[in-house]
Amino acid sequence: MRIENISIKTLTVCVLLIIGILSITLSLVAGFYFREAALASQAQSLSRVIEVASGDILSELRDRSISFGNTLQSREAFRSAIAKFHESGQAEPLTEQLDDPFIKGFEGTGTIDLAKLRVYDPNLKLLRTSQEGIAGLEPQLPRFLFTKAESRKGVERLKALSGLWVSPSGPLYSVLVPIGGLRLTGYLEVVVNPAFNLGHVSTLTEMPIKIYGMNDKLLHQSEQTNRENKAGEEVKLPVEYLMPAENNQPAYRLVGLEDVTRFSNDMYKTQVATTIAFLVLTVSTLSLALWAFSRFLFRPIKHMMDDIHRYTVEGSLTTTTAQDNTKEFHALSDAFTDMMKKIQSSIHELERISSLDGLTGVANRRSLDTALNKEWLRAQRSKTEVSLLMIDIDFFKLYNDHFGHQAGDDCLKIVAVKIAQLVTRPGDLLARYGGEEFAVLLPGTSSEGATSVATHILDAVAALNIHHPKSTISNIVTLSIGICTLLPSDELSPHHLIGFADEALYQAKAAGRNQIRATSPEDLAKARLSRRGEDT
Ligand code: GH3
Ligand code: MG
Ligand code: MG
Repeated sequence: MRIENISIKTLTVCVLLIIGILSITLSLVAGFYFREAALASQAQSLSRVIEVASGDILSELRDRSISFGNTLQSREAFRSAIAKFHESGQAEPLTEQLDDPFIKGFEGTGTIDLAKLRVYDPNLKLLRTSQEGIAGLEPQLPRFLFTKAESRKGVERLKALSGLWVSPSGPLYSVLVPIGGLRLTGYLEVVVNPAFNLGHVSTLTEMPIKIYGMNDKLLHQSEQTNRENKAGEEVKLPVEYLMPAENNQPAYRLVGLEDVTRFSNDMYKTQVATTIAFLVLTVSTLSLALWAFSRFLFRPIKHMMDDIHRYTVEGSLTTTTAQDNTKEFHALSDAFTDMMKKIQSSIHELERISSLDGLTGVANRRSLDTALNKEWLRAQRSKTEVSLLMIDIDFFKLYNDHFGHQAGDDCLKIVAVKIAQLVTRPGDLLARYGGEEFAVLLPGTSSEGATSVATHILDAVAALNIHHPKSTISNIVTLSIGICTLLPSDELSPHHLIGFADEALYQAKAAGRNQIRATSPEDLAKARLSRRGEDT
């Protein structure tokens, strides 16, 4: 489609529609990403919740293990087994004591998953280890515990130490409990499997939890916490937390499944509400824009086109464009009106120039014809008389021949100005009829009045005293004037008025010039205009 075939309105509607569609698409995409981002942030904060809960559980596990270790090392049988070991190197009683909790269990063993018990001397040298519990552990204190314990001095050595570590058979939690109270005789290492206790994270966080080792082996799975969900299909958000061991390597991967149905529903509602609000906003903005365009652009443009059309068709200069409109259109309308005014005044000037005689500046023959027709009709209606004087300069050809054309022109101008001074009534009109002939139209003037005007003209021009040595009747420029006065009727026309006045002029010439002759239709009934044909 070519651009010149598209209206601004169509273009505007198309552009606004494109903007609208883009905005709505954008709002949908933004809503989707907003939801995804909100879920991701929700997962992150829930991961933090798991982290805190598992931290709590580890510290509880520590307390229980220490308490278990203390209970065991304070038992009389355990102490005497240690003493026997030191005194006589007897290992069996000590091994028995270390295996006893695995076999019989005692208070506290139900709350921890005991993996191994080991006894060290005060210099952290391994003395004995339980036969029960998991196999495959290195026969030495875990490295981090060894480093921590070795660096301690004085009473610091009487405090328990603990931490999570990764053994070849999986993550374990060790507590190093001093044996012998203030008289330190060694250390008892309580090794537990923390996965057993970490299962309680699901109770704290109220979400089902699966615990994986770093080899992706499922170590523990909590029972599903069944929370009622009446809002239809459940939405589960997987939440992950990597639990680090003491050396900062990941030990466990805890995966929770949070029921975010309500959150998701709320998000969905927010998304729908946002989209609807955006839609309403877009539609109302577009409507408003369209209204504004229509009101402040299309309508004024149409008005302006109507104005121009009115001007070209009717010549009327009424501008409606600026009515009740913005300042640009006021300026445009003013410029348009100015331009039209200038055009009109140019036209008036042209009309004026075209109605005047170029040499003398009085009306030309065209104007005389127009004025005569108009006054004739007016006189016909008002039943008043119309008079016409036909004025001709005597022997003007000789004047020209003697003084030259330039002087002839000057003379014509002077005579015209003089006659114009005497033709002053409204409606009166002096016109140059041709060559050195002038006509004076005198509407509503009787033959007496016309004679009086003619006499004044004759005398005034004579009084100019323009030297004319070649005139045979005088030595100055003189005029001959023919007058005709008619009461317009259906049988007569302006044509007759001119013809009769011309006839009278001819008579004045024939009678010797420098005089006035008035004719009446009766006088001229016989002669008529044929005489004029002979004259010219
Ligand atoms: P009559 O007394 O019979 O009117 O004689 P006339 O010489 O005035 O009349 P005629 O019709 O024989 O000559 C008119 C002359 O007027 C012819 C021309 O030399 C002169 N004339 C006509 N128009 C102009 C003009 O515009 N300028 C000048 N300078 N002379 C003009
Ligand atoms: Mg003449
Ligand atoms: Mg003449």
